[in-house]
Amino acid sequence: MSVGVLALQGDFREHADVLRSLGSEVTLVRRPEELASVTGLVIPGGESSVMDKLTRMFGLADPLRAAVERGMPVYGTCAGLIMLADTVLDGISGQQSIGGLDISVRRNAFGSQTASFETDLDVPALGNAPVHAVFIRAPVVESVGPRATALATIADGRCVAVEQGNLLGTSFHPEITGEYRFHEYFLQKVQTAGFGA
Ligand code: GLN
Repeated sequence: MSVGVLALQGDFREHADVLRSLGSEVTLVRRPEELASVTGLVIPGGESSVMDKLTRMFGLADPLRAAVERGMPVYGTCAGLIMLADTVLDGISGQQSIGGLDISVRRNAFGSQTASFETDLDVPALGNAPVHAVFIRAPVVESVGPRATALATIADGRCVAVEQGNLLGTSFHPEITGEYRFHEYFLQKVQTAGFGA
């Protein structure tokens, strides 16, 4: 059994590399048959409006929703976090998400590409060492509903990492900084869930 990375658009190769270096077999997911064969899924960073259109075009949106409802572990970074949010603010006209996370997320909350930045975050769930986080046209979690839990906030108090059962999401990109703890945390969920076994 292997872990999937949604590979329609965005930095899926970087996620696949991190997962492989942690000992996982990886399937790049582009079709419903591939989704049906994996024990968990990473949704990469990229452009959520494009990813939304492609998941619908490739017939993956409804199977993905069903998998999330059945408890498949899913980790979304940046655009992937937007895909997992129940409510998307500042989406393009008609933009949909897969949903599952009881949060509302605002796209491009820090402005344009030039407003990208890096910072160190405290993430108690991952231990004491800070997480170096890179934000690229990143979303922010504007509100966290009762079913979701904030895992990290930036200095001004805004939430940038959340968890809800088997779902995990970050506004930033651990896959490009050599930070593997979020992927390890996700793989623990995959192991515990035993999804598709
Ligand atoms: N701004 C992008 C979006 O709306 C996300 C950027 C990213 O994934 N780095 O999807």
